[in-house]
Amino acid sequence: MTDDPRRHIPRTDALLAEPRLAKAAAELGRALVKSTIAAAQHQARLGEIAPGEVAERALESLPPTAASLRPVLNATGIVVHTNLGRAPLSAAALDAVRAAGGSTDVEFDLTTGRRARRGRGALAALAEAVPDAGGVHVVNNNAAALLLCALALAPGREIVLSRGELVEIGDGFRIPELLASAGARLREVGTTNRTTAADYAAAIGPDTGFVLKVHPSNFRISGFTAEARIEELAGLGVPVVADIGSGLPAPHPLLPDEPDATSALRAGAALVTASGDKLLGGPQAGLLLGERELVERLRRHPAARALRVDKLTLAALEATLRGPAPPVTAALDADPGELKSRAERLAAALAGRGADAVAVESAAAVGGGGAPGVELSSAAVSLPEDVAARLRAADPPVVGRVERGRCLLDLRTVDPRDDDRLLEVVARCAC
Ligand SMILES: *Cc1c(COP(=O)(O)O)cnc(C)c1O
Repeated sequence: MTDDPRRHIPRTDALLAEPRLAKAAAELGRALVKSTIAAAQHQARLGEIAPGEVAERALESLPPTAASLRPVLNATGIVVHTNLGRAPLSAAALDAVRAAGGSTDVEFDLTTGRRARRGRGALAALAEAVPDAGGVHVVNNNAAALLLCALALAPGREIVLSRGELVEIGDGFRIPELLASAGARLREVGTTNRTTAADYAAAIGPDTGFVLKVHPSNFRISGFTAEARIEELAGLGVPVVADIGSGLPAPHPLLPDEPDATSALRAGAALVTASGDKLLGGPQAGLLLGERELVERLRRHPAARALRVDKLTLAALEATLRGPAPPVTAALDADPGELKSRAERLAAALAGRGADAVAVESAAAVGGGGAPGVELSSAAVSLPEDVAARLRAADPPVVGRVERGRCLLDLRTVDPRDDDRLLEVVARCAC
């Protein structure tokens, strides 16, 4: 009878006593390390690895943190990539999150020892970023900001909006359905391609809660079109709420068609709603900016408590607004000439190691449902298409963009400080 190697698979308690695995259990939790060990033992039972390799395999397979979310290198060229978590936080915001993660004075005045206004630092930073706003408030996301507007300003009443702005944002999220779920009635005006101020004026009456302007952020209609401007609607006697979507505090020179909070307020919007994790480059949050009295009504509505943000979000938002430019801003502002020389350097290094790699021109995009159709001139390393899957399986995973049979690694969304790490991973997968 031959000796069955499976009998030599180390037992779980022996593996948990192995010093490196014991240390991992202290850092990541025993349950997580145990399940990683179980997976390695299973591979040994299937004969995929030798019994003596179980400990090493378990160690290699341990995740870097106790959560399953993995950091990835975004080389898609999509600056705000929704499926990759939208805006990556700045180092300053990450530090702030870490500091606020423990006990923190989020709602406490250390001078008096009494309760203080929750998140006052983040609110002050937001008010400074948009001085035209008389009041500011922060909720869970832009959808929550809109929901709160509907709940507080139009319960059982009408929200007047253009048929050209009945927008679906993504993954089945439709703004009209959100508003209706709050108990407001939608009063649609105009047509898909043309809506005028007179259309709004004719629909406004005693039942009107507010007029809503929604930025059609993820599509464009062109041709025979007309849209009423906020300036024209501001004089109709009801509040105008402007959902600007992407959250730019002020105009951005590269994105002239992208709305911003300051311009919308100056045009007469009573309230502006926006996301924190799109072009602002911060954490997921819904920003509410506008007339002090209206913002106060929203803040005091009972539902506000259900939509409030946690201390980690407040910390990250404040640091995004006050700290150095976040990665989204750096990616938008990256110089095309520099992107080109980075792509050439990486492609040359890879080709030197035998990879089929060339530097190419590329068109990056804002993404996250912002600035549709805007192409940001960029540069990429072009690799064979089948490298894409290997890169996604690498550590850290690299996500590129497959275009015309090639895998493109667009450098606009890669922090230059990550170039050498990128080179090392790509070399392992493509050489
Ligand atoms: C992205 C977007 C939303 C949804 O924002 P979330 O922060 O994801 O809830 C709403 N309206 C517009 C115009 C958007 O672009």
